Amino acid sequence: MSSGGNDNAGAARRWRESIMQTYGTPPLELVSGSGCEVTDVEGHTYLDLLGGIAVNVLGHAHPAVTRAVSEQIATLGHVSNFYSHEPELRLAERLLTLIGVPESGRVFFCNSGSEANEAAFKIARRTGRPGVVAASEGFHGRTMGALALTGQPAKREPFEPLPTGVEHVPFGDTAALEAAVNEDTAAIVLEPVQGEAGIVIPPEGYLRAAREIADRAGALLVLDEVQTGIGRTGHWFAFQREGVLPDVLTLAKGLGGGLPLGACIGIGEAAAMLNPGQHATTFGGNPVCCAAALAVLDTIESEQLLRHGTGLGEELVTMIERLGHPLVGEVRGAGMLIAVELNEKLASVVVETARQRGYLLNPVRPDAVRLAPPLVLERQQAQRFVRDLGEVLSEALSMST
Ligand code: PLP
Repeated sequence: MSSGGNDNAGAARRWRESIMQTYGTPPLELVSGSGCEVTDVEGHTYLDLLGGIAVNVLGHAHPAVTRAVSEQIATLGHVSNFYSHEPELRLAERLLTLIGVPESGRVFFCNSGSEANEAAFKIARRTGRPGVVAASEGFHGRTMGALALTGQPAKREPFEPLPTGVEHVPFGDTAALEAAVNEDTAAIVLEPVQGEAGIVIPPEGYLRAAREIADRAGALLVLDEVQTGIGRTGHWFAFQREGVLPDVLTLAKGLGGGLPLGACIGIGEAAAMLNPGQHATTFGGNPVCCAAALAVLDTIESEQLLRHGTGLGEELVTMIERLGHPLVGEVRGAGMLIAVELNEKLASVVVETARQRGYLLNPVRPDAVRLAPPLVLERQQAQRFVRDLGEVLSEALSMST
């Protein structure tokens, strides 16, 4: 598959010269993908257990998505948000029905998770209250407003001053949340399961408590489901695990199945807090992206992927635990969002060793590896990975000693 000497080393050199260096140099140049596998420029195939960071819920080149995208681009590719169109309207109705608010919800479509959270932040500001309470280590994106919500100092500090008024409290700690929220609080902003912090699952009842605390203070509850939404944790939305309903819900990642699409959904009063002219984005609700999203939702339903993902996610956790490997600490997961905690800061070494054996993962923390595979991952693929993982871990461990 190697084409004209364009190997990975050459690609990395070209990349360094042409792409702004905001990421580490990527180890691979990928050329194609099918199902849960991707192939690099040298013809090596990898099992993609990261799924474009929780994006490719249907894997790569799923026929339903490619068909929907091809048909839509050949019909109506872009109209700007001065006009509406069928895919956008159908998708909005579909999402509101899945959330259970077909009458009282309204959707603002955008292009990414950060943008969805910017819209949520603006809704919070429209309450007229100055404060927002979010969670330490929470991640909500890299644009300035989303970064202000993000509770990771290393990502925030190089860009200060950020928009003000955001206080961060320990995630999962109901008492700390209660103590921080008062009559100046416009919104509580939380991920139902913290993704970038290392797949941190709060104690049962935390979201219900957050809902009650927000209600008592007259504040909005904003749930950022950019990473957890669209079936990732085994439900359409992770908030459904606790039976709560947010005032604002943000989505992206899996929604477009690989096309850039985000959504900020206001429910009840929050649905009407941005007035005409107060917010917009040129590509928001692009017909092709909306058509892809409809195909994603249809396929999750028709292939029963919520059930498949929950079952296989739990199996993966059990299989990894059963390895009983000395490098592995806690293995935790919510559906197909899984962290393998390591007893040493070897996540990058494990990821690189796994890559050399044909598996794509990522180091979500120095001591934790993340799996966010497509929901269409097959049992045999998961079993093959776990069979090889023992050796990957041992090799990584031997390299550190
Ligand atoms: N919110 C959460 C929970 C995320 O995990 C992410 C990205 O990882 C974002 C927001 C930012 O999304 P994007 O990278 O699409 O801007």
